Amino acid sequence: MERIFTTFSQLETEEIGASFSSALIPGDIVAMYGDLGAGKTAFVRGAIQGFGMDTYVSSPTFSIVNEYLCPECRVAHFDMYRIGSEEELYNTGFYDYLDGRSILFIEWSENIPFAIDDEAIRVTIEKGEGDIRYIRIDSPRDIEF
Ligand code: ADP
Ligand code: MG
Repeated sequence: MERIFTTFSQLETEEIGASFSSALIPGDIVAMYGDLGAGKTAFVRGAIQGFGMDTYVSSPTFSIVNEYLCPECRVAHFDMYRIGSEEELYNTGFYDYLDGRSILFIEWSENIPFAIDDEAIRVTIEKGEGDIRYIRIDSPRDIEF
């Protein structure tokens, strides 16, 4: 299924992320695409707040991965901006999170095409004029939110 949303503010993008998160289950991989400043981190912030976690989600640009624990699962938020090879990806611990009980959000999935399979849910954010953003969600399974 494919769905497209248009947002007009960061808050609206966070709200779409929060609502989207209600459809996720452990093992899901959310591959995020879009330029710097598109709103990928805002979307993930909303999603993690949607899981009921009361933490402020910031960009893992320098840490590469931030981990959030909730009662039933863990959430890994990756920023692959600086990742360019399978070896570098391996060193981030990425493969340890493919344990079926984690939910992964991966910013800059453009950089690791070899690690994103057909099971992934793809979220692509494009900038429009001013604060307008187009958020496209492609999912191999039907997700309702
Ligand atoms: P990315 O992770 O894609 O680099 P961020 O979420 O860190 O993007 O930043 C998005 C920036 O764009 C923020 O400064 C935010 O305030 C701004 N912004 C303006 N309009 C929107 C919108 N509709 N959705 C999300 N962010 C927006
Ligand atoms: Mg970001």
